[in-house]
Amino acid sequence: MTRYDVVIVGGAIVGSSIAYYLREEGYTGSIALIERDPQFANAATTLSCASIRQQFSIPENIRLSQFTLGLFRRLKDEFGDKADIGFQEKGYLILAGQEGLPILKANHDAQIAEGADILLEDPDTLQHRFSWISTEGITAGAFGRSGEGWFDAHALLGLFRKALRTKAVDLITGSVSGIKRTGNRVTGVTLDNGTRLEAGTVINAAGPNGGKVAAMARLVLPVEPRKRNVFVFEARDRFADMPLMVDPSGIYVRPEGSVYITGGAESEDGEGPADAGDFDPDWSLFEETIWPVLATRVPAFEAIKATRAWAGHYDYNTLDQNAVIGPHPEVENFIFANGFSGHGLQQAPAVGKALAELLVHGGYRSVDCSAFDYGRIARNEPFRELNVI
Ligand SMILES: Cc1cc2nc3c(=O)[nH]c(=O)nc-3n(C[C@H](O)[C@H](O)[C@H](O)COP(=O)(O)OP(=O)(O)OC[C@H]3O[C@@H](n4cnc5c(N)ncnc54)[C@H](O)[C@@H]3O)c2cc1C
Repeated sequence: MTRYDVVIVGGAIVGSSIAYYLREEGYTGSIALIERDPQFANAATTLSCASIRQQFSIPENIRLSQFTLGLFRRLKDEFGDKADIGFQEKGYLILAGQEGLPILKANHDAQIAEGADILLEDPDTLQHRFSWISTEGITAGAFGRSGEGWFDAHALLGLFRKALRTKAVDLITGSVSGIKRTGNRVTGVTLDNGTRLEAGTVINAAGPNGGKVAAMARLVLPVEPRKRNVFVFEARDRFADMPLMVDPSGIYVRPEGSVYITGGAESEDGEGPADAGDFDPDWSLFEETIWPVLATRVPAFEAIKATRAWAGHYDYNTLDQNAVIGPHPEVENFIFANGFSGHGLQQAPAVGKALAELLVHGGYRSVDCSAFDYGRIARNEPFRELNVI
């Protein structure tokens, strides 16, 4: 039976980043990166909105994004002169009504304390800055003047995957269907074609399927797929200065080349896990929920035409909508990199680096991820991110 020192389950952005940084940190053991769908057709990574922000409520999330921002700024040094992820540094604009104002202010304080370049502006200033906006019902907006925006997720994933080809990582196509555990050690994985691999350490980077993969090792992880719809629409007017704007209702919109994308219409009340194979967009959300909000917030969006839509699955942590990072406290050679709940793409490079440091050096160095430890799951103590989009 083939043996690997590290087996990573899931080869999209999180799994690939972990493998990449393990080698960058000087890890010399053998690594298998197992992916069931190398086209990544249904991966959260490739179905995401590929945006990065500093506007989180807790410092640890801000720091993870700041690490990734640093990578974006020195992308060519890291991946070579041709590396390009089309980073559009146009900011987020998060709007608050009366109810959301204290939270927006508290979040802004946390962001400023972390050195983020976020402006908290009153409605008049916002109106002056963005001529196309209606500030009806708005008390303030937080605008990321730099360090926020969007990029090409496929390109970022491609950079990591390409780099892995020269880093002695075995890229294995297959679906992990079982994990062998003896007492408090995981000892190997089984693929659906019957192949068995021995493993020194197993890392769960299975995205929305992370809860099921943990269950294969008889471990509880409250991560499940939640369907999120994204709609593409055309409008007559182009607003070149438009950031990714989040209305107090939770509806977001941003430009994407010559069109716009929008979403955020799902209600979490009573929401359950998505069927693993359900990627059909719910068009009614656009007509009934999104369009009325857009038409109010941006009067020029009164007349728009939705042309396309897709749905992806959030890797949703039902405890606190935050990542679970690091080893299981008892089964210490089972490592989590799960539950990012809608902000995992921008956190993946940082998490890859952090876990590589943990495995190679025995502790976090670049970004301390202790607060995301599995222990809180066992204790049922949420570590809640308030700014989930
Ligand atoms: C609509 C939408 C919008 C989003 N927008 C943003 C955003 O703007 N910014 C942001 O930072 N994040 C965003 N996210 C979240 C982000 O996409 C995810 O948090 C992130 O991509 C998670 O990466 P991952 O590699 O863990 O998961 P995935 O990309 O889902 O990859 C997991 C991989 O594991 C594989 N896998 C699963 N089970 C097995 C198994 N048993 N055996 C082998 N392989 C397996 C899957 O095939 C998959 O390729 C969004 C997500 C969605 C759905």
